[in-house]
Amino acid sequence: MIPYGHQSIDQKDIAAVKPVLSSDWLTQGPKIGEFEKNLARWCGAKYAVAVSSGTAALHLAYLAAGLKPGDEVITTPNTFVATTNMLLAVGAKPVFCDIRPDTYNIDETKIEKLITKKTKAIVPVHFAGQPCAMTEINRIAKKHKLLVIEDACHALGAKHKNKKVGSLSAMTVFSFHPVKSITTGEGGAIVTNNKNYYQKMILLRSHGLYKDQQGRNVMTELGYNYRLTDIQAALGLSQLKKLNQFLVKRHRVAEWYKKALGDLGQIILPRQLFGDYSSWHLYVILTKQPAWRDKLKKYLWQKGVAVNFHYPAVYSQPYYQKIGFKNLKLKNTERYQNSCLTLPCYPGLTKNQVQFIAKLIKDFFQSYAPLEVSRRKNIINIFSSRS
Ligand SMILES: *Cc1c(COP(=O)(O)O)cnc(C)c1O
Repeated sequence: MIPYGHQSIDQKDIAAVKPVLSSDWLTQGPKIGEFEKNLARWCGAKYAVAVSSGTAALHLAYLAAGLKPGDEVITTPNTFVATTNMLLAVGAKPVFCDIRPDTYNIDETKIEKLITKKTKAIVPVHFAGQPCAMTEINRIAKKHKLLVIEDACHALGAKHKNKKVGSLSAMTVFSFHPVKSITTGEGGAIVTNNKNYYQKMILLRSHGLYKDQQGRNVMTELGYNYRLTDIQAALGLSQLKKLNQFLVKRHRVAEWYKKALGDLGQIILPRQLFGDYSSWHLYVILTKQPAWRDKLKKYLWQKGVAVNFHYPAVYSQPYYQKIGFKNLKLKNTERYQNSCLTLPCYPGLTKNQVQFIAKLIKDFFQSYAPLEVSRRKNIINIFSSRS
């Protein structure tokens, strides 16, 4: 099977991890600080806090922001459940904003209508690696005195108007899960320019304990064990060196798809907005008819291509239905979640594999839904393009 995403680990990564295993430090040791320094520098931010997962990073960012029961946070339904699960974990209420029809990111023009007295923050998610409209989102946040915390788990390496993701808001969260831009096995981080947030997250990462001048362990905050290990940080350091190369390869995959599928009338290809640089975490196509999507998915799986869905709207998950989102249906999100399909996209994917996948998609439509038939049925593009 060709998976939708896959890590890229080579001999250099393995060589970087090996010496740590026979060193004095297995868990948090010197590699953590080194990894944090390099990650912060890479993003153009002052501080980074490395933690055990992207989910842990979201939890700590929300805690550092002071989010608490009763607070409302405006975010997107087109994300991995962890974005809003961690809001629930701190007692805050996610308020779902519809998505843009062109990038499938939060629609910044619909945010202001959702702001109430209880709103404390906006959590944009850079879906698939295409940055959200951060200039506008930051403007809205400033006007209404809201905090912006970016879920950039898809977007390490992305740029918005030539500025790196990680330097655009109060706190930015990354994940180093194997399918993400770089991996540490499990892992995550928060980058920030704010010293208070930084110090708070360092404390909360390790039980809320610190050593006082007499060397005693003193606990002043309710913390967790969200530490990354030195073994993982060594892998992260080695991976970070290759991030640029990984990004170039992902862009090449996107170009190959565009060339092979660009004139196929039954689908809509993903795009990178002018002036932005996507990290191409995911390559998501839409079928112009929702009914085609599941059939195409089944066909590709039968042929050995493990396509995926990103994402069913978070509010449509049974748990969210149960806790009060039963009647929520956002127009663009509904259309999107019924026609999206994630094609394989990762640095190690070859041109031959992309051409193989593209050929399967063309063959499928040739026999199942030729364009002439679709035209006769007066099928139109369900998404009007905006840019
Ligand atoms: C991967 C991901 C997370 C969670 O990261 P983990 O490291 O798997 O905990 C959160 N949000 C988004 C958008 C993600 O893609």
